[in-house]
Amino acid sequence: MIRTGSIVRVRNLVKEQKSGSKEIGLVPTMGSLHDGHLSLIRKARRECDYVVLSIFVNPAQFSPAEDFDIYPRDLKSDLRLAHNEGVDLVFTPSVQTMYPKDYSSYVILEKITEILEGAIRPTHFRGVTTIVAKLFNIIQPDSAYFGQKDAQQLAVINTMVRELNYPIKIVRCPTVRDKRGLALSSRHQYLTPPQLKEAAGIYCALVEGVALIKSGVSDFGRIRRRIIDVLSNYGLKRIDYVSFNQWDSLLPVRKPGGKILISLAVRLGKVRLIDNIILDA
Ligand code: AMP
Repeated sequence: MIRTGSIVRVRNLVKEQKSGSKEIGLVPTMGSLHDGHLSLIRKARRECDYVVLSIFVNPAQFSPAEDFDIYPRDLKSDLRLAHNEGVDLVFTPSVQTMYPKDYSSYVILEKITEILEGAIRPTHFRGVTTIVAKLFNIIQPDSAYFGQKDAQQLAVINTMVRELNYPIKIVRCPTVRDKRGLALSSRHQYLTPPQLKEAAGIYCALVEGVALIKSGVSDFGRIRRRIIDVLSNYGLKRIDYVSFNQWDSLLPVRKPGGKILISLAVRLGKVRLIDNIILDA
């Protein structure tokens, strides 16, 4: 496994592989790897000849009030895990490499980035699309692997790839959960054991929503109220949104039919937790 922070070196290494007609798979991450990230790496490993893992805590997707400075970082452990999973190349650029002084180019998608997470974190997706576009331009993978855990991010990337004509296949990977159903997240390190127990209510609430839709309930106001009830029963009362959107346009859902994204965000301690389920209704 090779690790480098140099754009030129990454380009040369990937070029060498491409000249041998190797399929390149990219797994973009912010590091502090857990089993969710590893599931993306494993899928890439199964489907591609050469797996590139990027580890970069991207300042552009954090607002000044957010946790960029204290975001968990553990490069040593990440490199060990990556090595164990058979990653070929780890790209670990510095902030200076990705955003040199006076940096000014951003990729901005309208509409789909203005709702849900984007309504609460207005500059977040501009940072995500910019860094992902840069990684795509540097690495030029055939496929890139993203977790459904961040469903809106995935929908935004799908839109960017389609509209900006990137010749890259975007692979949606299922959300990896702990035994209580809580979607794994690097930010769980900020939570106490009692808070982790409360957080388990998120998945229960989503499952309740799915059950109601499957049982034929079509009043989304009622389903939302039931989801909020379940969250409250677990002590989760600081709810940013509970939303029903068409997958993957994220247009609002008015009645059952097609693929529906049920997504929610809650605040617990210092952390915002997001989760979702996509169901065929
Ligand atoms: P992050 O390091 O949080 O930026 O995440 C990097 C990638 O891992 C993104 O595509 C996430 O959606 C994905 N990911 C994070 N947590 C999970 C999880 N629990 N299950 C599946 N994918 C995940």
